[in-house]
Amino acid sequence: MPSFEIVRGDVTRFPAEAIVNAANRYLEHGGGVAYAIARAAAGDVSEYIRISKEAMREQLGKDYIDHGEVVVTPALRLEKHGIRWVIHTVGPYCGGRWDEDKKEKLRRAILGALKKAEELGVKTIAFPAISAGIYGCPLEEVVRTFAEVVREFEKEARSLERIYLVLYSERDYGRAVEVLGGG
Ligand code: ADP
Repeated sequence: MPSFEIVRGDVTRFPAEAIVNAANRYLEHGGGVAYAIARAAAGDVSEYIRISKEAMREQLGKDYIDHGEVVVTPALRLEKHGIRWVIHTVGPYCGGRWDEDKKEKLRRAILGALKKAEELGVKTIAFPAISAGIYGCPLEEVVRTFAEVVREFEKEARSLERIYLVLYSERDYGRAVEVLGGG
């Protein structure tokens, strides 16, 4: 069964074989972690947007992603950290609110990325706190949902050995650890 770890760090340089992008449904990578990933991967953000949109058309046959659907792009310059793939997934927009519908959308977004990681046969995957930034979902609920989905997924895991939730700020990291009752 894969381990689930909360760590503090920058997902664009986290040595996991696959990292997850908290994307928007058009893969525009305009801000937050999406912009950081696109910039670090391709140097030029618009170039990574082009690559992402092309991959979306090839992999999904359409030009937007629903919650639970994912698109994979190559890691390009992130390969120097051991990253091979970027898995783009879309979490819910919360604007400070939280309910069962948002939770279900986040659950699908996380699960879609985990399933794709299994398909790719990777051993390690690193997630940012999807929807806890610009999309305004409460970090505590996001962290709780991650822990639940990972627990639910554990039984189906074959290749995955380690699943990381990477918190960017020290403060968010502290809050996340507290939610899970860690030290
Ligand atoms: P969303 O629109 O899904 O909320 P954001 O990119 O705004 O996505 O934020 C998601 C989370 O990612 C936030 O908690 C933000 O602090 C965090 N984040 C931003 N940059 C990075 C990074 N380089 N590595 C890891 N997490 C990051």
